[in-house]
Amino acid sequence: MRVLVTGGAGYIGSHTAVELLEAGHDVVVVDNLCNGSEVALQRIEEITGKGVDFARADIRDREAMDAVFAKHDIDAVIHFAGLKAVGESVGKPLAYYENNVNGTLVLCQAMEAAGVRRIVFSSSATVYGSEAPVPYVETTPRGTTSNPYGTSKAMVEKLLEDLVVADERWSVTLLRYFNPIGAHPSGKIGEDPRGIPNNLMPFIAQVAVGRRDELTIFGNDYETADGTCERDYLHVVDLAVGHLKALEVAGDPGISVYNLGTGQGISVLEMVNSFTRVTDVPVPYRFGARRAGDLPAFWADASKARKELGWVAEKTLDDMMTDTWRWQSGNPEGYR
Ligand code: NAD
Ligand code: UDP
Repeated sequence: MRVLVTGGAGYIGSHTAVELLEAGHDVVVVDNLCNGSEVALQRIEEITGKGVDFARADIRDREAMDAVFAKHDIDAVIHFAGLKAVGESVGKPLAYYENNVNGTLVLCQAMEAAGVRRIVFSSSATVYGSEAPVPYVETTPRGTTSNPYGTSKAMVEKLLEDLVVADERWSVTLLRYFNPIGAHPSGKIGEDPRGIPNNLMPFIAQVAVGRRDELTIFGNDYETADGTCERDYLHVVDLAVGHLKALEVAGDPGISVYNLGTGQGISVLEMVNSFTRVTDVPVPYRFGARRAGDLPAFWADASKARKELGWVAEKTLDDMMTDTWRWQSGNPEGYR
């Protein structure tokens, strides 16, 4: 297949491009580089020995998207491009709806015009909302999201559902990610946040490499085993393979939705301790106040992806720590 990967210069998109190329697919990347790097694209080539076709373009630019579809005979789209910082989205709701919702709208219009009606979308466990029973299962309806980022993901899910209702030729797969971490085992590509990391794993890695003094653990008075929040962390390469499976297995017209997680909750303290145990690098931390909007604990029921896609998260927590550290210690300043 020739696959258009939007946001392919970013964290999950670059890892997915590697898996696609290694499975023999052709990859076209569209990215405006607002949070991605062209170096990631060179590294993809170093890892796989194969190049990607790259168009530096914004998915909201209809002319540019039409040109991409005119130039390449695209079979399917994996759609990663979007903004993803939960905290930032609270202060900039319009930017998030504009980029994530309108961006998807324009992308789908360009796809429709080009007769490409197969899309795999990067959704998130956040669409389950705060009231859903844990573990989250796909049959639970979307809940009330608590920030514009989460709401934008829920809105795009709905948009894509409506598309399938209107035209049965569309094939839509919604992949709800839990907490992707880690890096490619080559150490050549990984997560490279700009500014202060919002997420736990890159923060731990930057403390370990000396870019930050200490980690603040947001809250140790939750009703969990050790008082810190629990999440379902999965290796980004497993997540990338999940996209490959979705593309290859779930291609029938209609809509399908899958959780991609390990099915296991790990606490913040366990994360810090595992990192130090595996890498032998200390991570100074202190306990701070709870972060607004954080849920105490959630993880995936990942059985649907196992049954229908034949996908399971195979890599261990130790793999996630080892690979994060290989990437961060080999690239202390990320791609810069
Ligand atoms: P990322 O920021 O590393 O990658 C996104 C890429 O999209 C970047 O390279 C950015 O430059 C590009 N981009 C953004 N807006 C664009 C636009 N309008 N036009 C073209 N390119 C644009 O993020 P990521 O962690 O790789 O996440 C990829 C997708 O997965 C996002 O949609 C995100 O919301 C979703 N997701 C991520 C996580 C996570 O924890 N990383 C969890 C759930 C869902
Ligand atoms: N977290 C933390 N310190 C940080 C960043 C995150 O204690 O500097 C905690 C956060 O409160 C949450 C967990 O780590 O309990 C995972 O946070 P992340 O932002 O990575 O993922 P999400 O909250 O989106 O699940």
